[in-house]
This record gives sequence, C-alpha cells and structure tokens, in this order.
Amino acid sequence: MAFAEVVVDTNIRRGAQTYTYSIPSGLEVAPGQRVVVPFGSRQLEGVVFRLTDEPVADVRPLLRAAEPLLLPHQLELARWIAEHYAAPIKDAVALFLPPTLATPRLRRIARLARGVDLRTSIKELTRAPRQLATFEALLLAPLGIDARALPSEDGLRGLVQRGLAEVLSEVDEPPPLVPETAQILPLRLTKAQEEALAAIRAGNGVFMLHGVTGSGKTEVYLQTIGDVLERGQRALLLVPEISLTPQTIARCASRFPGRVAVLHSALTPRQRYGEWRRIGQGSVDVVIGPRSALFAPLRDLGLIVIDEEHDWTYKQEQSPRYHARETAIKLASLVGAKVILGTATPDLGSYHRAQKGIFTLLTLPERIVGPSMPPVRIVDMRQELQAGNRSIFSRDLQQELRAALLRKEQSILFLNRRGANTFVMCRECGFVLQCQDCLLPFTFHAVGNRLMCHNCGRAARPPEHCPDCASMRIRYFGLGTQRVAEEIEALLPQARVLRWDRDTARTREDHENVVDAMREHRADVLVGTQMVAKGHDLPLVTLVGVISADAMLQLPDFRSAERTFQLLTQVAGRAGRGPAGGSVLIQTYNPQHPTLAMASRHDFHAFFRTEIQFRKRMSYPPFSHVVKFVYSHASAEKCQREARELFGQLAERVAGLDPPIHLTGPLPPYLEKSHGKFRWQILARGRDVRPVLLSDLPAGWTIDVDPASVL
Ligand code: ADP
Ligand code: ZN
Ligand code: ZN
Repeated sequence: MAFAEVVVDTNIRRGAQTYTYSIPSGLEVAPGQRVVVPFGSRQLEGVVFRLTDEPVADVRPLLRAAEPLLLPHQLELARWIAEHYAAPIKDAVALFLPPTLATPRLRRIARLARGVDLRTSIKELTRAPRQLATFEALLLAPLGIDARALPSEDGLRGLVQRGLAEVLSEVDEPPPLVPETAQILPLRLTKAQEEALAAIRAGNGVFMLHGVTGSGKTEVYLQTIGDVLERGQRALLLVPEISLTPQTIARCASRFPGRVAVLHSALTPRQRYGEWRRIGQGSVDVVIGPRSALFAPLRDLGLIVIDEEHDWTYKQEQSPRYHARETAIKLASLVGAKVILGTATPDLGSYHRAQKGIFTLLTLPERIVGPSMPPVRIVDMRQELQAGNRSIFSRDLQQELRAALLRKEQSILFLNRRGANTFVMCRECGFVLQCQDCLLPFTFHAVGNRLMCHNCGRAARPPEHCPDCASMRIRYFGLGTQRVAEEIEALLPQARVLRWDRDTARTREDHENVVDAMREHRADVLVGTQMVAKGHDLPLVTLVGVISADAMLQLPDFRSAERTFQLLTQVAGRAGRGPAGGSVLIQTYNPQHPTLAMASRHDFHAFFRTEIQFRKRMSYPPFSHVVKFVYSHASAEKCQREARELFGQLAERVAGLDPPIHLTGPLPPYLEKSHGKFRWQILARGRDVRPVLLSDLPAGWTIDVDPASVL
C-alpha cells in the first residue's frame, strides 16, 4: 500500500475526517501507528487510520513514523463510535490515546554517541559555541543526562544531527496504585449464583445479571473474572463512579492481588500514564475503571463486566457522546469477549433486549445476607397539611425516626437536591432570584451565606431587598440537605446528624469518611442526595425516608418514571441490610402515582410491563432512537434563526422516509439558558435515524445520539 489515511491532530473543528499522505519507500507504516505529517506549513502528529492504494492529487509524503498507538480492533471500534454517534473520527480516535500524548511524561536522556572521537569533534565544534557547551556537558555525564539539564536545546539538536550525541526516552514509572493485599478466596456460591456462573461459562454474547443489591452479583463477577484469567485472557470491570465504589474495587483487588489496575479520575496525568503503560505492557490482567477504561490498551480481552449498567454516568456528555454499554457490546463483539450487565434496576432498553433473547437473562432472586427487601410505605403529604402538620416530616416519619434512635439504629433521609433551600422568592411580588446565565433559580447555601447556581456554579450574595420591588420580605423556599439536617436537629436534639452531598464530600476520602462514620456508628441520621443511593453496605441502617418523590416524577422527560423507579428502588435498598430488618417511607403529594406504587412493592416486572407499553405506544426508546440537536449562542434571536434553518433542512431530509423520523422543535429546551448562552433544540426520533446523522452540521451545533435526557 502506497498511501496512508491519517487522522491528524488539527484544531480544525470541521473539515476532512482524514488526510492522505504517501508513504516514503523504506518506511514501514501500519494502521494505528503514530506519525508526523506535513500540514500546511506545520508538522503535526496523527494516527494512521488505514492504508490504501488509491492515488490522490497533490499528495505529500509523511515525515516520520513513531510507536503504534491503537490496536487493530481499537481502530475498528473508533470507526464504529464515530459513525454511530455522528462524531468526528478525530474525537473517537482521541479516546484511545494514552493520557499524556500531548505532553508525554518522558524523560529525555542525552548522551554522547558511541565511538565519538573527542579531539576531532571539539575541533569540528569550535564555530558552534552552543553545541560545544552542550558537548562538554555531555562529556561530564558518561551515563547520560536529562536533556533539560543541558545548557542548550538547540545545541543538543545540532549534536544529534552531526551524529555526535543521541537522545533516549525513558519513562518515569509511578508505582502501581492498588496496594498488594492478602488474597481473599472465592466464596462458595449459592445455587442461583452457581447457575448464573455456569450459564456465563457455557454461553456467549451479553448476559444480563438482574438481582437486588446484596444478591451476590459481585461474587459472580469475580468468579467469572477468575475463570477468564485462568484461560489466559483478561477482564475489564466498569463501575459508574470510582470514588463511590471503593468496596467493589477493594474486593476485586484482594481477589487478584498484584494483577489489577484502577483507572481513577483523580489520578495525576503521570499516574494515569503509568497505569496505561502497565496495561499496554500486559503487566495487569484486570482493569477497573469508569467508562473511559473501555479504551485502555488491554489485549486478549475475554470479559467486560458493567456494574450498575443502568447508570447514566456511562454516557459521555462531550463529543464523542458514546454510551459505554453499547460501546462495550461492540468492543466485545469485535474481540469475541463476553459481557455481563449487572444491576438491581435494569435499564428499560437493556431489559427489553433480555426479554427478546438478544441478551441472556440471569436472575439472582434473593439477598444472600439479611432479610429480603424492606417494606415501603407511601405517605400522603396532602393529608399532613390538612391535619395541620407543616413540618417537612410527616408524623409517621417523625415517629419512626424517634423509634430508630431509641433502638440505637441508624436512619437515612434522601432528597434529590443540594443546598439549604431550593429557591429564594419575594413574598411581596413573587420575584424569584435566578442566575442570569442559566435562567435557573439560585439555591441558597447557609454555609458561606451565598446563592449558588447549580448549573454553572455562579455564586452571589443574597440581597437584603427584593431586586424587583425593594421589599424586605424575601423568603427561602424548598428544601436541601442542610435544611433537612437542621430540622432533624431541632426535632431530635440528641441525634447525631451527618450530611452527604457534593458540598460536604468531594474527594474519595470524604466519601470514605462518611461511610466509615456510618459503619462505626458515629452518626445516627444521614441526610443525603443521590450518593446515599449507591451500593454501600451500611448494616445498622433500618430506616430510609424519602423526603419528597415529587420533583423527580415531574420532570418533562420520557424517562422520568424510569429514573424515579430506579432511584427509589436503590434508596430503599439501603434499609435493612443488617439482621434487624428495616422500613422505608416515601413522602409525596402524588400518592396515587403508579410508579410510586410499583416502586413501593419492589415490583420491577410490573413497572417494566407498564412502562414498556407506554414507550411502545409513543414510539419512545427502546422502540426508537432519539437524536438531540442543540444550538447555543449568546443571542436568543440567533438561536431561533439557526434552529429554524436546521429544522427546515432536517424536515426535507426526513420527508417520506420509511420507517419515518419524527421531528420536534425547534424549541428552547427545559434548560433554556446555560453558562450564559441561550439554547435551542431539535429532537429527531425514529427506528433508523441515520438519515439525520449529518456529518457536516453547521458550526455551533452539537449532536447527541441516544441522549441521556431530552430536557
Ligand atoms: P451484590 O453485588 O449483588 O450487591 P455481593 O456479591 O456484594 O452482592 O454480595 C452481598 C454480600 O453477600 C457480600 O457481603 C458478600 O460477601 C456476600 N456473599 C456473596 N456471595 C456469597 C456466598 N456465595 N456465600 C456467602 N456470602 C456471600
Ligand atoms: Zn448559572
Ligand atoms: Zn419583590
């Protein structure tokens, strides 16, 4: 092959996907290799995408070929991501690059070339003082010296050109992250676990492992991984968020001591690079990480496990907007690996595929330790108001909190908001203080006495007067973890209250401290947001209260019921993991809502049947794909103009298609303004959306295939 199509690392947003260069004779170039190419008047780095014999006009030769970067199947996967998610191939290829390609953490070691004759060399250099100085410095360092310690970079380059010096690259290798621990041996499996393991062993493709928290899924993952390693293959374990899943990681690391790498988002670039290298060299057999771990250079992949497969952190929100589940399934099919999707609350689309036999459905019906799922009661907050109870806690919840405290047991109060109060309103004129950049209500934080926009992070001082009518009657409405914590302290002064949200816990250590404090019974009541729903094992918790289920139910997104069901099920799963059992209370102003009733019965199957019918009737996913086009600009008028324009183009494209594609919009979305820019959006929905996956989208637009939300 005489030509190479190269993905060039340009800053040009639009333009060609790849550029073609001729391969100079004598140069060996393979797909996936890093190369240096001429680009205009510059030299840029790129990755060889494929080789071809097709001649092109005015072709220039590529300049240099360096190390291989992408394995063949990785290139194939990059191509699939670019196509499926309508992303530039450059973005898709970038996923696979070692973390520090831009600024490699390589030490450049310079030394004199072998067999250099000192006297003639020095004579040769008398007219090049910088080279001479460098040469002298090298003379003093017979074993080589860090190139940055030399007097002149130019001087070194000159010496290398003359053949008098050479430069070697050496990687500073950080120590592996997972400490060596004593091995913890596999547990003896229950019958259900045994059956699941046997099915995975014997089968192929994608397995959905459905079981409540505590039903033994992780043990099945670990034993399947053990199997795979025994066959000389490697495994990948994806988790939604590393900092919230220390228990899983610790278990995996101690089951396979010395063989596990963890790709943590808090790694320094250098550590990240080190882990990537260890993986590339084949020094580890199991990689644990968030969605990006999919792109680690792991060879001989035999298994990908996706824990909590329903979790939306698996979707990337920047280009390429891939979903790790779908990408993992593609990757597995390319290399012949198996996939396990584990969850207590399957994604509706995944479960639909399991029902249709596209995935193999495996169920772990019971908790292994402790009693079965706790009873859930729905509390009608309208009746509380009628009875004169204006507290945020219903009478039932108050009583149960008190009882739990008396029994020396722990409680969790969940709400899906941060801050002390949701919004700040003038009681005189109704004016609501909001972020000018996002047009969302500010949230009041008593810590630091400030208002904060939870979309863009803008902070402001709470005003003393209403900015609109100058009244002093400014009041705080709504609820946040801080307010709930304060109310609890007022209600139960003897209770030790702990908060857990993004304000009080940012780092992995913070999260661990909260979990430790609970496990060691240094707190009685934990008040928290989404984080309390994750899979922590807190055996002393016997009561879970959901302060309000309403906000999540009311979001104008076709997935709001699904999300609510998942969240409530997970939160409920926090109660009664110990021998004392437990109970769950869900407070709401919509007690008749069917999703709440089904969540309260832990009835995933009823929920699935109801919800899948709704989706089918409306041709929402999984019966269609959604494509979200968003335009954002500081001018609202320009947004509208651009949106109408693109809508017109799309409408022409979809006219008369079979199967049809429905367009909605153009409209400002739920989040009308964000980070100081207005937004307009267009949604396309259809069984086959390829006709609207424009590769030449006008500037300013983003395209999101199968988006996490349509808000
Ligand atoms: P999940 O991943 O579904 O939450 P785990 O695998 O973490 O479930 O299991 C829950 C608890 O039960 C853990 O403490 C685990 O050590 C224990 N466990 C799992 N499988 C077994 C088994 N076969 N025998 C005894 N204990 C088990
Ligand atoms: Zn804002
Ligand atoms: Zn006012």
